Amino acid sequence: MSSLTTQRIIDNALRLGLGHTAESVTESAARADSAQMGYLDFVDHLLSEEVAVRESRRFRNALKLSGLPHHKTLDDFDYTFQPGLEPRRVRDLATLEFLTGASNIAILGPPGVGKTHIAIGLAVAACQAGKSIYFTTLDDLVRKLKAADAANRLPRQLANLMRPSLLVIDEVGYLALDRDEANMFFQLISRRYEKGSITSNKHFTEWGTVLGDDVLATAILDRLLHHCDVLAINGPSYRLKDRQGLVTPVEPPAS
Ligand code: ADP
Ligand code: MG
Repeated sequence: MSSLTTQRIIDNALRLGLGHTAESVTESAARADSAQMGYLDFVDHLLSEEVAVRESRRFRNALKLSGLPHHKTLDDFDYTFQPGLEPRRVRDLATLEFLTGASNIAILGPPGVGKTHIAIGLAVAACQAGKSIYFTTLDDLVRKLKAADAANRLPRQLANLMRPSLLVIDEVGYLALDRDEANMFFQLISRRYEKGSITSNKHFTEWGTVLGDDVLATAILDRLLHHCDVLAINGPSYRLKDRQGLVTPVEPPAS
């Protein structure tokens, strides 16, 4: 290939925004030549590589903007530690059908059983599948909504929270909300009604106390649970797993 042609290909690729092709076309052409690749195979190879590079960039950027506290996947989850949790149930959720079916997932259980881990794993899987995701704790969410309200921007903030295909609201129930806060949470849930969300939280019977208002709690749960997969994890805490051996057993009193 003449250097003039090569330069023209690089210039045109750059004008078309095909950065990876511009960078690699000379090397790819040499490899295609020695492998005696057909014309169509070569074009296919160039375009596929460009798409793969873009897709991995999109995935990395989306993860950075997602608010996820870490990026553990469902493959990192040790199901043998939670025998009460059927791996198949989690794998079914990871097919992301709940997003196309516009339903919700609630993950319930005591601290340390992996609720956040599974919620993050599902969010990473959704991001990989090209879905937009956003992760927040209820506490942060309420703080943002209050700040927006104080600046007369609540409708815009609520509209922003409608954008992600999947919204994860973690740690529902760790801190109690006052009535205004619970009201804002209700506004969000009723807007996102039937638009994929995950919450990871206390048992529903305790939501009245958490939200400081039984009527509001019932109204929120009514919407959240209308189309909802509930994943209850009730096994041991993974956080305490390595400490179990360190706990000295208490001797029964001598009788
Ligand atoms: P929860 O949200 O239920 O309080 P987390 O998901 O934060 O618990 O889990 C606590 C820590 O233990 C995290 O680092 C998580 O990745 C890890 N973990 C929990 N369960 C498992 C498990 N079954 N396999 C592997 N890691 C786990
Ligand atoms: Mg958690």
